[in-house]
Amino acid sequence: MRILFLGAPGAGKGTQCKKLSQKFDLLHLSSGDLLREAVKNGTPAGLAAKDFMDKGQLVPDNVLIDLFREKLSSPDCKNGFILDGFPRNRAQAESLDVLLTEIDAKLDCVIDLETRDQLLEERITGRRICPNKACGAVFHTKFSPSKKGDDCDQCGTALTQRSDDKPELVKQRLAIYHESTAPLIDFYKQKGLLKVVNGEGEQDKIFADLLDALKVNK
Ligand code: AMP
Repeated sequence: MRILFLGAPGAGKGTQCKKLSQKFDLLHLSSGDLLREAVKNGTPAGLAAKDFMDKGQLVPDNVLIDLFREKLSSPDCKNGFILDGFPRNRAQAESLDVLLTEIDAKLDCVIDLETRDQLLEERITGRRICPNKACGAVFHTKFSPSKKGDDCDQCGTALTQRSDDKPELVKQRLAIYHESTAPLIDFYKQKGLLKVVNGEGEQDKIFADLLDALKVNK
């Protein structure tokens, strides 16, 4: 399976992609995670991305395209993959088409995880993450708090907030989503690949709807 996820920041793409990748043993390629890792390791991609990420802006297309060219051509992708957060604009989507042709692969489905704007801000600003790479659990101060308060209830590490999840940057990230990324919904609709899944409500219900949309056994 080769699946691409669209959806605003806070729509729950990361959570659903993680569940899907575990269930079907698919490689989950999250552009945000890959960039944060690159920043942490001080790689050339990380150095190029850092300032843009700190300001809640899109990182230049060439950084993303190079990153995904390398990932998609690796043998790990042979059995399928889930793209989460890339592409985020028309130029990236067109480049992805070229990258897929280069590796002789086609997308099976594009999922748009649809969530109303008013919910997104609350979801993003309340998000807390476990920085322990081996764990990576995600919590929400209101909707899914850790049983251990400010520590991860799975591994005990102190939870953190992503610097770009602070309220002052969230509005800007949502505006960029509407301007640059949302038009991709039509782009993939016209290719006959788009499936819309309601991103509001219980995580398990959303996952069940997602499996229905993908027409795979639960
Ligand atoms: P995310 O974790 O998906 O919310 O991404 C975090 C940040 O990484 C974004 O606010 C952007 O600065 C950057 N980023 C992630 N994916 C892309 C992309 N496809 N194009 C440009 N910037 C990106």
